[in-house]
Amino acid sequence: RKPFNFSAGPAVLPEAVLARAASEMSDWHGTGMSVMEMSHRGKDYMGIQAQAEADLRELLNIPSGYRVLFLAGGATLQFAALALNLLPEDGSADYIDTGIWSSKAIGEAQRFGTVRVAASSKDSGYTRVPDRNDWNLDPNAAYVHLCGNETIGGVEFHDTPDVGRVPLVVDASSHILSRPMDVRRYGMIYGGAQKNIGPAGLSLVIIREDLPGRARRAMPSILDYGKQAENDSMINTPPTYAIYLAGLVFQWLKDLGGLTEMARRNEAKARLLYDALDASSFYSNPVAPENRSWMNVPFTLADASLDAEFLKGAEARGLMNLKGHRSVGGMRASIYNAMPLEGVQALVDYLKEFERTRA
Ligand code: PLP
Repeated sequence: RKPFNFSAGPAVLPEAVLARAASEMSDWHGTGMSVMEMSHRGKDYMGIQAQAEADLRELLNIPSGYRVLFLAGGATLQFAALALNLLPEDGSADYIDTGIWSSKAIGEAQRFGTVRVAASSKDSGYTRVPDRNDWNLDPNAAYVHLCGNETIGGVEFHDTPDVGRVPLVVDASSHILSRPMDVRRYGMIYGGAQKNIGPAGLSLVIIREDLPGRARRAMPSILDYGKQAENDSMINTPPTYAIYLAGLVFQWLKDLGGLTEMARRNEAKARLLYDALDASSFYSNPVAPENRSWMNVPFTLADASLDAEFLKGAEARGLMNLKGHRSVGGMRASIYNAMPLEGVQALVDYLKEFERTRA
């Protein structure tokens, strides 16, 4: 059988999507052309992008007052772009610090304006989300930023915090489309595509239409959310093939029943894995149970000198890319939308076997 790929990103994509892309690779719908070869202003490609947006709107139930942008550059570019677009020179923004990715977002925004860290779980070693009662929010902040799922630490917000009237901006790179989201609770939702959406390099921005333009800064036009919205994300040539693939993923999600069904599957996968880790004293996950990510599950072995042997045995069973992030070590299993339950079951079987024979 095909190996199970637990990579944090770029990550596994649905087999059905890859098969369909392969079958349409050099001749899309009888045009004799690959989507890669089509003019972005042509009828066929414009139709593909419009359908991708319509399907995404349906999946996330995006209200009409929100714009959807398909942009190049990955989530890291949006760390900067969102500050350029939303953070006025005479204002400040509140950031919630829950780990490596929120820290990177903070560092990037600080290059362009005043950032307040309104809450941090650094003292806990980033093993939880800071208690909402301890957030020191500024009611006049331009926005509140948080990372909805820390891909490296495996810490996820399972509820949308109430931040009053200040627009809430969420980095949803590693949990977007894993479950329903109430878009109305957010000013902006953004993410890189390479986990639950498609190829790396594409990023998605969903933004309330009154927000762009508030900061009025000089910036490259392709980073200007207002201009991109006016131009249907086509100020320049958009990453057309990546958007086409994202569209195939959206159709796959619709076919299997949308985000409520996806959430049911993801919760079941996560529960299976966390239960196995918790049932053993050989493996451990440091994250507070109420903040454990459904998407990224870091864990350590009681004896780190067995790490290399663990990974070698995993690969021999087709369980790939379980090595933890270089900054934290240990292991990490990323179990995004396209990871089937059988993959998680195979991992759990291996965890038990390894512990029985080596611990
Ligand atoms: N934010 C989160 C939560 C991520 O997991 C990542 C990348 O893996 C990024 C941002 C950065 O994304 P990119 O590499 O597309 O810039």
